Amino acid sequence: MIEPPTEAEVGIIGGSGLYDPGVIEDPEEFKVYTPWGLPSDNVVVGWLSGRRVAFIPRHGRGHKYPPHRVNYRANIWALKFIKVRWIIGVSAVGSLRDNYRPGDVVIPDQFIDMTKKREYTFFEGPVVAHVSMADPFCPTLRKVLADSAEKLGIRHHTKGTYVCIEGPRFSTRAESRLWRDVFKADIIGMTLVPEVNLAREAGLHYAILALITDYDVWAEKPVTAEEVAKVMAENVEKAKKIIVESIPNIPSKEVRVDDGCEESLKNALV
Ligand SMILES: [Zn+2]
Repeated sequence: MIEPPTEAEVGIIGGSGLYDPGVIEDPEEFKVYTPWGLPSDNVVVGWLSGRRVAFIPRHGRGHKYPPHRVNYRANIWALKFIKVRWIIGVSAVGSLRDNYRPGDVVIPDQFIDMTKKREYTFFEGPVVAHVSMADPFCPTLRKVLADSAEKLGIRHHTKGTYVCIEGPRFSTRAESRLWRDVFKADIIGMTLVPEVNLAREAGLHYAILALITDYDVWAEKPVTAEEVAKVMAENVEKAKKIIVESIPNIPSKEVRVDDGCEESLKNALV
């Protein structure tokens, strides 16, 4: 067994606009080789509120990997390898609902997978696993994140259904109406799947901060690139604040957490 070069408790996977953790103290960079290839970038590990925290920018620094080319397996494997137990994903999303406004933070509780061609599992055979995804996000971590947003007075939604599309193109108007009116999804993005599946297979506690940048095309409310960039920049600051507030409230290594996330493979292996 290869020993990891360092250890961390909480992993942060940064989305569009969040390429540099900024808030991590004494950061050190590690290049982590995995059986699935290299993660999107070096893993930055350091301290935040007295806890060991690791950071990977999902698209790589400079945004070099589009959603369908991100090596999700390497990212999750690298975090698991350095003993991470909790993962906070950060994602920019579009809104499918009037009351999910640009600038709002969503902590989704469900998702619908409309991706088409990704690497969805660590179990390619001969060992096969069918993990339960009935409740795909960690309830413990979702509560910590929601409590932080509440305390900080940041407008947020404690529930929501995220429809994940393949991209990299955006939806047609017909598709956007389908996600909204038929699927009843609340937000739309391109990166949740298979990150969420893989985190579950790895027995990690996983939740995301989904940051709304604009309304999807159903709303017929065209926005300029500058408007989206402005909201995105503000959203990144909100995400950082919520993360800083949340880290000390995440259960420490010594605490046993019985929410099912760590036992995901118990009845899943064939
Ligand atoms: Zn959990």
